[in-house]
Amino acid sequence: MVGLRMRYRAGTVLALALAVWAASAGAAAGPAAVPAVERGRWLMGTLCTISAEAPDTAQTAKAIDVAFGAIARLEKVMSGWRDDSELARLNSRTGGEEFPCSPDLFAALVAARDLAAETGGAFDPTVEPFIRAWDLRGEGRVPTAAELDKARDVVGYLGLQLDRARRIASFARTGMAVDLGGIGKGIALDRAAEALRAGGVRRALLNFGGEILAAGEGEPRELAVADPADRLRPAVLLKLAPGALSTSAQSERGFERDGVRYGHILDPRSGQPLATRASVSVVAASSARADALATALLVMGRQTAAAWAMEHRDVGVLWLEPAGEGVRAWTWNLEGVTAAPGARVEWMRAPTTSRGGVR
Ligand code: ADP
Ligand code: MG
Repeated sequence: MVGLRMRYRAGTVLALALAVWAASAGAAAGPAAVPAVERGRWLMGTLCTISAEAPDTAQTAKAIDVAFGAIARLEKVMSGWRDDSELARLNSRTGGEEFPCSPDLFAALVAARDLAAETGGAFDPTVEPFIRAWDLRGEGRVPTAAELDKARDVVGYLGLQLDRARRIASFARTGMAVDLGGIGKGIALDRAAEALRAGGVRRALLNFGGEILAAGEGEPRELAVADPADRLRPAVLLKLAPGALSTSAQSERGFERDGVRYGHILDPRSGQPLATRASVSVVAASSARADALATALLVMGRQTAAAWAMEHRDVGVLWLEPAGEGVRAWTWNLEGVTAAPGARVEWMRAPTTSRGGVR
């Protein structure tokens, strides 16, 4: 790790979801020649920061504004938190009723359903009835077995019917509903990156509460992934070439009742929140894919996730579990992963090559 000097930026430490910090980009090569414009905005209930390299500061600031605008528009389409979103209107439809979608909503539904199929339903956008049963957008409550049974009857991505020719969505059964919480921020980041590119930005780092997108060209960035037991403690450093990094963990949100903690990620088969202290970080070509896959792999559990990762070589996976004062780490399809300075990392499955001084 010659020449690596960690500089955690104040802005990124604010990230509410599992903390991921940008270390100095290309530190070994000295200070970046191009100044950066950095802006943050509160969107989709989370802080979104964009740091873009800017030969022309005014033009770049404008491109960042346009990117934030694109995310704000998608929020009105996909949000599960607002009664006036297009998604809320879809969710009020009964079984068999046709719902003509906007191109944005339809694209999100198609992406979500495809990822559900690719993960054998571990990622499932139709978990909304479970989210409601556990009141995960409110105070949180433990549902009765009967309530969970009732919800289970109307969960299952195969019941989300998408007519691609006519851009129409419908539910197979009354009571079904969609939640895009596990993929929405990823979709939004991909769209924001498109806006930046169109605005002439050549290199940018976007951070949406733990979803990271390194857009454009140039040297890989060094990013720190937090210890799942302490989001403010960097555990592992990872080199991210242009592409997306997403981290999911059950510690991020949820509620506590009678001494038991319930997290916000559910097993779509049982409807139960996962009981895991692990975090999983996924590196993929798009943010939407990384976002949904991080959720899916956590649902699968380490062993199934390992098998899945071996069959999907385009997806890099870092699995962390708390162990004593440090973490146990498993990696698949990743290079250039190292322990953060001072972190105790027990490598259970080490990175594949030693770029950047991997042990
Ligand atoms: P975060 O929102 O903290 O980044 P994730 O990307 O893992 O975390 O998404 C979790 C959200 O996805 C939950 O808050 C919920 O809205 C939704 N969700 C929960 N379980 C699933 C699941 N098995 N498949 C798809 N979405 C899920
Ligand atoms: Mg996700």
